[in-house]
Amino acid sequence: MRDKIITTRDWTQWLSEREDAGLTRRLRLADSPQDVRMQVDGRSLLTFCSNDYLGLARHPEVAAAMQAGIARWGVGAGAAHLVNGHFGPHDELERALAEWLRVDRALLFSTGYMANLAVVGGLVGRGDTVIADRLNHASLVDAAQLSGAKLLRYRHGDMADARRQLARASGTRMILTDGVFSMDGDVAPLTELMALAAAYDAWLVVDDAHGFGVWGESGRGSLSASGLVSAGVPEYLIQVGTLGKAFGTAGAFVAGGRQPIEVLLQRARSYLFTTAQPPSLACATLASLNLIRHGDSRRAHLQGLIARLRDDLAGIGLPVLTSDQMAVPSSVTADLALMPSTTPIQPLWVGDSQRALALSRALETAGLLVPAIRPPTVPAGSARLRVTLSAAHAAEDVAQLVAAIEENLPCG
Ligand SMILES: *Cc1c(COP(=O)(O)O)cnc(C)c1O
Repeated sequence: MRDKIITTRDWTQWLSEREDAGLTRRLRLADSPQDVRMQVDGRSLLTFCSNDYLGLARHPEVAAAMQAGIARWGVGAGAAHLVNGHFGPHDELERALAEWLRVDRALLFSTGYMANLAVVGGLVGRGDTVIADRLNHASLVDAAQLSGAKLLRYRHGDMADARRQLARASGTRMILTDGVFSMDGDVAPLTELMALAAAYDAWLVVDDAHGFGVWGESGRGSLSASGLVSAGVPEYLIQVGTLGKAFGTAGAFVAGGRQPIEVLLQRARSYLFTTAQPPSLACATLASLNLIRHGDSRRAHLQGLIARLRDDLAGIGLPVLTSDQMAVPSSVTADLALMPSTTPIQPLWVGDSQRALALSRALETAGLLVPAIRPPTVPAGSARLRVTLSAAHAAEDVAQLVAAIEENLPCG
């Protein structure tokens, strides 16, 4: 297999073409813990790129819980959950997550990527249909493709298109969407999606990797923030959350009704055939769940930073794009613009990959880490700087970012 791939494809040329197109990715070496100020590649940088939205990744209570967990439970789980790798802290965390989200049951996974593979492949397959937003996270796209179900994609946020796809779907239907879109920062039309799921008797899977902890009462996520689950969580709704973002730890969960969760436990391959996450990690996540539940001041501070960044960038003349403009990337003529987002993901539209890279490098020279996001992570011609804010940022950090962007604004 391997020989064949090497002899049928010239990787030297592929690598140099990527370099020429400004698409080469490279690793940075961090030499200090995750934080808004980090030592990266030997330099001290102010960072605007993590998903550690509440600043919990190095919180002393979370770290202490993990250390106590290691003292009590050792390091590795040593086996899959269904063998003898399911420990007290796993059980306690699953119950705490289910209670927090007011669902029947939650099931832990090692990563969000694996949780998505489980939900889609566990509940639909050949003969069924997945109806998915075009800008969904790569893990949802892969999950749909691996499941063997037919994949019908609708234009980003376009509910008329989603309805058309649902109407022509066969077998069991499953609607798949990000809650908060990871590269755009906008929120899915969850009210309409719930109505469609109910009308077409479809599963609705909401991957709220960037919503949990950040939004809603007690940080219960995008559905809660939209008031959609206050009267209870409907049977057709399944929520996926990752623990590596606002929770500041690692791993993921799927939350929903008793029966679908039991089906995943019985048959999802990314649940069955993998080692359980370390029990000490579940101890850490229990501590961060507690901080999230009581995290209103962190969330309020973060909202204040988001508003300030947008106001200040508009103040130095950046145009503000609408979602209609975003729907037709080729129509955007601005060199640098604010994308329509109210979340801690605040991408700045650039368009051209090389220019996005040049801007990111200029900011890095000024001591700021803001990554350029290029195709294939985002559609062709829609490269951007992906600014993410964290409750660990101070207002002065945002002011420093805006000043550096103003210095590097394209002339004219
Ligand atoms: C980060 C992310 C994932 C993957 O979660 P991991 O736990 O990092 O594997 C899945 N879905 C979305 C929308 C994400 O942003």
